[in-house]
Amino acid sequence: MQENSNSTMGYKEHAVKDVENLKSNIRGATRIHGAGQSDKKIAFVIVDVQNDFFSGGALPVPEAETLIEPLNAAIKNAEQSGHLIIFTQDWHPVNHSSFEENGGDWKPHCIQGTNGAALHSRLYCPSGAKIVRFGVEPEMDGYSPFENPLMDQLIDTPEVGLVYVAGIALEYCIFATCKQIRDRNKEVVALESLIRAASPDKANETWSKSDNLSIKRLPNLPEEHKGVLGVIAQ
Ligand SMILES: [Zn+2]
Repeated sequence: MQENSNSTMGYKEHAVKDVENLKSNIRGATRIHGAGQSDKKIAFVIVDVQNDFFSGGALPVPEAETLIEPLNAAIKNAEQSGHLIIFTQDWHPVNHSSFEENGGDWKPHCIQGTNGAALHSRLYCPSGAKIVRFGVEPEMDGYSPFENPLMDQLIDTPEVGLVYVAGIALEYCIFATCKQIRDRNKEVVALESLIRAASPDKANETWSKSDNLSIKRLPNLPEEHKGVLGVIAQ
């Protein structure tokens, strides 16, 4: 995966550059043939596995370290199956409105180009994976990768039938990502064992909201999809 060194690049420039890469990705993608999913591609979205959300970072999430090993196994499995793999990155300017000093709720985190914004060093990143950076606009929430038009170009296409979601943090970027995938009439499965919550004791509230939006959780994975990401579906 190529790290983009030009952090000042706008969404539009990112999109143009990455869609070129996507074309070859689509051509090489594996099809799945489950009920209602024939001839559709699977996307695997790994949300915000960034240093600032791990211990020692600006906004550590409990148990984040335990995510890496099983997540890497799932990513390798998805890579071998030819699925579209997308990593998202919270990617803020210093004047982002979500920061306390700018009237928001959060400590400064995931500032563009810093170590805190980098993907975790042990995260397995296949060479064909896509990166979607969001939270770039100072006045936008910064909770959903769909703030970046590249996300729609990757997901909101007839080619994609099913989207798996994993990563950090359940209540914020995971929930927003899943909801917006559902808003685009895509089937979405939240891989519960590969998701970490900022407040684990309140996670059930978010899962209840997700259930109401028909966001599936791994325990409810349809039979025909078991084994697609076999390592974590066991
Ligand atoms: Zn953020």
